[in-house]
Parts: sequence; structure tokens; C-alpha cells
Amino acid sequence: MKSYKAYLSIGSNLGGRAKNLEDAIALLKRAEGVSVERVSRIYETRPWGNLDQPPFLNIAAVVTASVEPIALLDACQSVENRLGRVRHEHWGARTMDIDILMADGYEMETERLKIPHPYMTERAFVLVPLVEIAPDLRVNGKNVAEWLKLLDKEETAGVEEYH
Ligand code: ATP
Ligand code: CA
Ligand code: CA
Repeated sequence: MKSYKAYLSIGSNLGGRAKNLEDAIALLKRAEGVSVERVSRIYETRPWGNLDQPPFLNIAAVVTASVEPIALLDACQSVENRLGRVRHEHWGARTMDIDILMADGYEMETERLKIPHPYMTERAFVLVPLVEIAPDLRVNGKNVAEWLKLLDKEETAGVEEYH
């Protein structure tokens, strides 16, 4: 199949958060049909949806995939499992969460995989790292830098570069 670019959001708020992100990238680099092209800096971010949990560290990554998006999701979920993701509470704490934000040339809305990711344009923790590595990426009629500017101060204040 023809390869395509895909955009991932990767987050951790349990255990050694920065190490978890580093391990996730290393495991993605070894995944069949996935080649990691760019990785953003790390951002510390306020939890979204359920505020009663520790802060996350988040990054975004651009990959080139030569497997179907569903197989890319399988690869992402196997990395989550390898990194000890046990709780599957929606929007809860986890050692690793990898979401597919966009996949060039694909749009879908199945239970298992929605592309573009339905909440990506509302989340500063997704957009800030993504704008760093792919500001011109277009989603739902605007580029991601424009989407980020549309968020209110309260939302963007929850994201800071992590040192
Ligand atoms: P959110 O998707 O709002 O960020 P979450 O990441 O906490 O929530 P999970 O519990 O990690 O949600 O995932 C629930 C299910 O969402 C997964 O099993 C997966 O099949 C499905 N899913 C649908 N679209 C996507 C996508 N674009 N990327 C990753 N998972 C997706
Ligand atoms: Ca998520
Ligand atoms: Ca997820």
C-alpha cells in the first residue's frame, strides 16, 4: 500500500512519565510499518475531562505509516500495553495513552477508530505539541495553529513546556 503520514498524541500521568514517553517512541520506532519522523518537546498539562488525577506529560509525533490506520492503532495499543497500561477508565489516569489524531487521506468514524480524533481541536494539550511540529496540518477546514488560537486562555494556560 501507499504510505501516508499520521499524527499521534502521546501522554502519560502515572509512573516515570518522561521515561514512559521515551519508551513509547522507542517502541513505535520498532513497530512494523511505522517510521517516526518528528517528535515534539514535552509539555506538562492539566488533566482534561476528569480533573481529579495527576498532571500529564504530553508530546506529539509525526509518523510515516505503511500499514492501514487500524494496524497503526494496533501498534499504538500494543505499545500502551507494553508500558503497563492497566486501567481503561475513560479519561482516567494511565501510564500511556496514544491517540491517532490524523492520518493523511483517511477519514473514518467507527467505534474502534475515529479519524480525525473527535476532540483534537478542543484540547490545548494536543494542539500545543502538534503546532510545534506540524503547524500547517489542516483539520476540519482550518490548520492546527488556527485551531489553537481559537482556544480560550483558560484552556491554553493548562499547558507548559516541561524541563
Ligand atoms: P479520548 O479518545 O477522548 O482521548 P481516551 O484516550 O481516554 O479518550 P481510551 O480509553 O484510550 O480513550 O480509548 C478508548 C477507545 O477509543 C480505544 O479502544 C480505541 O479503539 C478508540 N478510538 C477511537 N478513535 C481513536 C483514535 N483516533 N485514536 C485512538 N483510539 C481511538
Ligand atoms: Ca486520549
Ligand atoms: Ca486513547
